[in-house]
Amino acid sequence: MNSNPSSAVGLENLFDSALPAAQQPAWPDAQALGNAVGELKVLPPLVFAGECDNLKSRIAEAADGKAFWLQGGDCAETFAAATADSIRNRIKTILQMAAVLQYGASLPVIKVGRMAGQFAKPRSNDFEKRGDVTLPAYRGDAVNDLEFTAEARNPDPSRLVKVYHTSSATLNLVRAFTQGGFADLRLVHEWNKGFIKDSKIGARYEAMANEIGRALDFMRSAGVNPEEFKTVDFYASHEALILEYEKALTRIDSRTGDPYDVSAHFVWIGERTRQINGAHMDFAKKIKNPIGVKIGPKTTPEDALSLINELNPNNEPGRLTFITRMGAGNIRAVLPAIVEAVRDSGAKILWVCDPMHGNTYEAPSGYKTRKFDDVLEEVKGFFEVHQNLGTHPGGIHIELTGDDVTECVGGGEEISHEDLATRYETACDPRLNHTQSLELAFLVAEMLRDRK
Ligand code: PEP
Ligand code: MN
Repeated sequence: MNSNPSSAVGLENLFDSALPAAQQPAWPDAQALGNAVGELKVLPPLVFAGECDNLKSRIAEAADGKAFWLQGGDCAETFAAATADSIRNRIKTILQMAAVLQYGASLPVIKVGRMAGQFAKPRSNDFEKRGDVTLPAYRGDAVNDLEFTAEARNPDPSRLVKVYHTSSATLNLVRAFTQGGFADLRLVHEWNKGFIKDSKIGARYEAMANEIGRALDFMRSAGVNPEEFKTVDFYASHEALILEYEKALTRIDSRTGDPYDVSAHFVWIGERTRQINGAHMDFAKKIKNPIGVKIGPKTTPEDALSLINELNPNNEPGRLTFITRMGAGNIRAVLPAIVEAVRDSGAKILWVCDPMHGNTYEAPSGYKTRKFDDVLEEVKGFFEVHQNLGTHPGGIHIELTGDDVTECVGGGEEISHEDLATRYETACDPRLNHTQSLELAFLVAEMLRDRK
């Protein structure tokens, strides 16, 4: 891997800068943007191309029905929430969910954080109005600040450099936790200590952890103590939205001479930026990372086939993931024709269900929320569609946090519209809290186990 921009031959002309790029900030100061990009270009890669390739092989296995993809984290990470506690709680939550899924369904689980880079947001409206005041919308800490003042909402390119350093610090802790002993399967109990307050889910988790513990003791008594149980592979992902940032972190891999976006192992293109002739598509086409595309309820089978044609014309296994976000009420009507057309084309695709983004609504109190039951219903629909077509329901993509927030309604704790105000902390979309995340994992594990 080469981090020296002068030897990143060809990168200047790799991307077509004349193409229209949706959802980009109106940076007020070109000089400041140039400085930030220049700084990013000489910083070391956050991930190695070889790790991206490993992930690609694992995605190929999942696409083939031999593994399950679990991707989770904040809608929008913030600089302020990049604390040890917050990062640890998110990792614990994902590790717990993965243990539930793996134990329940006897399938390897690919663990992917929607973290260490998820700092930019596409917005439906460029402006936000409160009373008589209209200001630019918050676009994530990568661009501006959530505070509702003209100064805070002004796009500031030096934030892109802060995204890099915050991602680097986050990833460092993620690697320490997942490689340094914390993720050892024998600590499956520890991940839960003082964590789950909800007694029903807590008791269910403890019972499972006891069974895993007994199985591990049994293996040890038979002289088997595999290294594989001591560490886990944990991958970083985010939406490749701000092209100045993603391009500045694209490097030529010295092993292969190919360009990789070294800001994350896996990046995806969102529903609002996947125009076939747009700059995001051009970017995704040219990097060698495994990539995802979000597809919503207006997607046609033809759209899906052209995305495949653009992004994975050689049908490279593991290269392309479709993250469907249809809404609980649409999935059974819209998804079958798409999956059928893709299946019949012979394209190798990992199908992942995002049951969050099609199910957002505004509560009477004004909070953006989602119903746990709608989230669950969309996953159920996703499993049914794949069951009927003989394809693999390959994974889930969840907005979650390890904390006890009250942002999504329902679940075992029965969070109500009135409860939302208690602890509503997200900078953007509502996330499942720790208990709701585990509850979902138990329910998905049952679906995965019961599929034929
Ligand atoms: C997101 O993942 O936060 C997001 C904006 O999703 P989508 O592109 O599916 O709307
Ligand atoms: Mn979101």
